[in-house]
Amino acid sequence: MRVLFPLGILLLLTIWFNPASNAHAATSAEIPTEGGTWTNPTITIVITPVSNMPWFKASYTYDVNYAIARWAKSIIVYTDAYGSYYLRKLSFVTCVSGVNDTLCGTPDIRVQFIQSFGSESAGLGLTSVRIQQNSGIFAAPTTTTLATYDPTNTTQLTDTDMINIASHEFGHALGLNHATVSVTGDGTFELMFLSYGQAVGNPRNSLESPSTLDMYALANIYDWVSNPSGFSGTGHSATIYSLPPGIAYASEYPYAEQIQSLQNSINQMRLEILIVAVVAGLLLAVALALGILMARKKHVQAQTESWQIVVPPAPAEVFSFLLLR
Ligand SMILES: [Zn+2]
Repeated sequence: MRVLFPLGILLLLTIWFNPASNAHAATSAEIPTEGGTWTNPTITIVITPVSNMPWFKASYTYDVNYAIARWAKSIIVYTDAYGSYYLRKLSFVTCVSGVNDTLCGTPDIRVQFIQSFGSESAGLGLTSVRIQQNSGIFAAPTTTTLATYDPTNTTQLTDTDMINIASHEFGHALGLNHATVSVTGDGTFELMFLSYGQAVGNPRNSLESPSTLDMYALANIYDWVSNPSGFSGTGHSATIYSLPPGIAYASEYPYAEQIQSLQNSINQMRLEILIVAVVAGLLLAVALALGILMARKKHVQAQTESWQIVVPPAPAEVFSFLLLR
């Protein structure tokens, strides 16, 4: 009991101190904004694909569209957990140049592609925003340029890479600058960190999602959306945000992806259980076979010994007796 008591105190201290250290990790991450906002909750984007170029894949157009759609899905996940429901009023209308760009009119954001930014740059994407003087309002168009090859122009982006880079650039187009940390509190990549945390072209790369920190800053940039009369006056000037204590620092993956990743871990667990069962079965079979072999060996030995005992005495004596007669 005397040993258990200090142990109990130690355990309690560990429990008390853990949330404190987590909260500290959460507050150390910061994200500045660019000091601009769009003044219409419907934000329009025109993607201009490249035709007849070997460095361009048609799927990249879909990837950019998908990246923008995932932002809306992450907003649903964030607002379900932490409020700021007005963020759901933001809608992103994506058009493809030469297909349906008339639907987007004069777009807020234009997305174009280049083969590579070149070895002078470390970049994979570039977004240029213009802010109307002293107004905190974006002037259209914001232009986003996406590379399809790494800066050395040797490795082509996978579709996952393109979705990740386009998501990051769209974060800029919405008004976010770069987050100060590369990994969130749940161990996933911070989408808005300056550099891409994964190796371009690796087929095992994972999708990245905006973090709660990115969403928290976004909720501040677009707080005017909660006003029924819409935007008026000026937007917020560039501000540095960090998460308040009540919000855990994590990536906000769309629900469908969360379910898929749970399903994957269940399948992984099932596979591991199956492997353990097969190995245990094999070990049992080997043990049984060894047992049978040992038992047989003993049986043969016992038979040999009893046969030796039964052997009659050497016939030599009988023979000599006969000769003596
Ligand atoms: Zn960036």
